[in-house]
Amino acid sequence: MAEFIPQPSCADPSEPNSLSVSAAHERIAQLLTPVSAWEKRPLRDALDKVLNQAILSPIDVPAYNNSAMDGYAIFGEDIKAEPFNLKQIGIAYAGQPFKGEVKQGECVRIMTGAMMPPECDTVIMQEHVAVDGDIIIVHGEQRATQNVRLAGEDIATGETVLDVGHKITPADLGLIASLGIGEVTVKSALRVAFFSTGDELKSIGQTLEAGQIYDSNRYTLHGMLTRLGVDLIDMGVVSDDKGALREALQLASQQADVVITSGGVSVGDADYVKEMLAELGQVDFWKIAMKPGRPLAFGKINDALFFGLPGNPVSVMVTFYQFVLPALQQLSGEQPAYTPQLKATCTSKIRKRPGRFEFQRGILSQSTDGELQVMTTGEQGSGILRSMSVANCFILLEEHCDGIEAGTVVTVQPFAGLI
Ligand code: AMP
Ligand code: MG
Repeated sequence: MAEFIPQPSCADPSEPNSLSVSAAHERIAQLLTPVSAWEKRPLRDALDKVLNQAILSPIDVPAYNNSAMDGYAIFGEDIKAEPFNLKQIGIAYAGQPFKGEVKQGECVRIMTGAMMPPECDTVIMQEHVAVDGDIIIVHGEQRATQNVRLAGEDIATGETVLDVGHKITPADLGLIASLGIGEVTVKSALRVAFFSTGDELKSIGQTLEAGQIYDSNRYTLHGMLTRLGVDLIDMGVVSDDKGALREALQLASQQADVVITSGGVSVGDADYVKEMLAELGQVDFWKIAMKPGRPLAFGKINDALFFGLPGNPVSVMVTFYQFVLPALQQLSGEQPAYTPQLKATCTSKIRKRPGRFEFQRGILSQSTDGELQVMTTGEQGSGILRSMSVANCFILLEEHCDGIEAGTVVTVQPFAGLI
């Protein structure tokens, strides 16, 4: 990992003493060094892993000239004004080439994918042919070299098919298999330890006393991290106690490449995360000019990178998607992922004060004439986790925006594009 250089929280003119979303992105990106560990994996176990090697094709694809149609392999020179006749002398199936020699005036019945007889360069599709014994009568306009897939036309031997840093998709599994490669070298998964902080948190199955709530952040984090394919270390709930926090942070930093906590990073009397981070490692605490999710502690403990997310459940998800996710992707050695941002007409009026970048929860849909439209999920409180559950996108409202009327075109970030 890169050397950590603590930086003072910089002032943003629109919100004193806070950092803009884009500046926070840049600062985090500067501190990330992708994993160098790698491992060999059988192809089937490489789905969603990041390639540590470029995949070069050891063969031509297709490996031989073959027919793109069910029809008849002929000499291109034999094409005449329609109709014209040729004599069929044999059959070529996929996997069973025709073994004889073809002369001009002759043809071979051929199936899709079957190897072309070496003398032939053209295939007449069978729908253009009438058959009379071993004579075929060709109708319609024909062109020499049509309906043939040439050796190496998709991929030539030695060509780079996939680059280092590519995350393997189902299509890639098939592509790599089509080259006869059964094992690939991939980057080792990141180890990510996470825990929730808060005296009020109870786990499922425990009875709630007055003033207590169930811990939901560990579940959303579990889901978001699982989708990313990292190795998870779920460390449970840690109380608002300096000793307990110190112990948990030390243990986490010994076991993981990245440590993520939720809660305890604000300015309350029991918010000890920053203090413990300063004691154990290096801390860069930011107030980010965003809503929800203003406080974010970022730093290092030993060699582990640390993200102290806010406690509010929606803030956890927003800060994870906006900051932790791209950081983890970069650390995983993945090529920068494309996250689509779309323009949609907002059917809700949205009230907003200038100064903070807002990630409102939205429901994106398509009208009957194909236009994208979005509405907010309603109340946007950072504790209302249901707003994330019913939403399928963020509505992005820039810092300077002072609210919008219904009918305004806004930028949205679909969750489906995030992960
Ligand atoms: P904090 O940042 O610790 O002050 O927490 C802010 C708010 O988020 C409080 O209302 C907490 O009760 C709530 N909260 C903190 N952690 C969790 C959690 N793991 N699950 C659900 N709510 C939480
Ligand atoms: Mg707390």
